[in-house]
Amino acid sequence: MSALPAMVIHDRPSTVVPALVAESLYRFFHSGAEEILALRGVSLTVYPGQFVTVAGPSGSGKSTLLACIAGLDDPDGGIVRICGSQMSRAPQAERAALRRDHIGILRQSSTLIGHLSVDQNVSLARSLGGGVRATGSDPLELADIADRRRSMPHQLSGGETARAGLAVALANNPDLVLADEPSGELDRVGEQRLLHLLRSLTGCGVAVVIASHSPAVIAAADRVLRLADGCEVGT
Ligand code: ADP
Ligand code: MG
Repeated sequence: MSALPAMVIHDRPSTVVPALVAESLYRFFHSGAEEILALRGVSLTVYPGQFVTVAGPSGSGKSTLLACIAGLDDPDGGIVRICGSQMSRAPQAERAALRRDHIGILRQSSTLIGHLSVDQNVSLARSLGGGVRATGSDPLELADIADRRRSMPHQLSGGETARAGLAVALANNPDLVLADEPSGELDRVGEQRLLHLLRSLTGCGVAVVIASHSPAVIAAADRVLRLADGCEVGT
């Protein structure tokens, strides 16, 4: 596993730009005559090196919040800024560029391309990112999957699949890693290993935001944003 130290940044100079600012987000959906209030005034600021878990029961708005942060969805109200640039209401191409340049997305089910090896999946993600953000650190090492770099996705265990997905998410050296229920399909050991890796990333200044109702993911966070019916609730 990565030996990078965990580091929590408690006091920051005011010059540090937050990796994420979400200000008073609202998102409404319509289903027939019914209006669903998925987000109702949710705010979240995350600085480099912070690990935040978005917790709450099913239907509380976790996935909607992450989709708005990633620019895959657009809030009906409020603002999302990624590393100082406005994501919300930006044209699709700008949102895609902001996502490419700053965000790594780790999904619950692997999005690895089946006919490419783990290595090739990471290389493809790098080339789609233009290679401009690629650094000396090997995403396969950071995700502790370098020993399976030549394996095909169908040859991987559940835990290895999750770590290969993390390597792909890290391909372009993101400032912010977003993960929606990343440990939902993992056993306890696999979940702990993934959490250790995500925690290690914060030591390199990466901000991590995970949507999960897993007690282990909640315990691993520096901060927990608890949602219920689209609103932030106290602990
Ligand atoms: P969670 O991830 O916490 O389970 P979601 O963000 O997926 O919650 O959903 C929040 C609420 O918004 C739920 O009531 C869900 O049914 C509703 N919702 C989410 N996406 C859509 C959509 N595209 N159309 C209609 N309703 C949606
Ligand atoms: Mg969800």
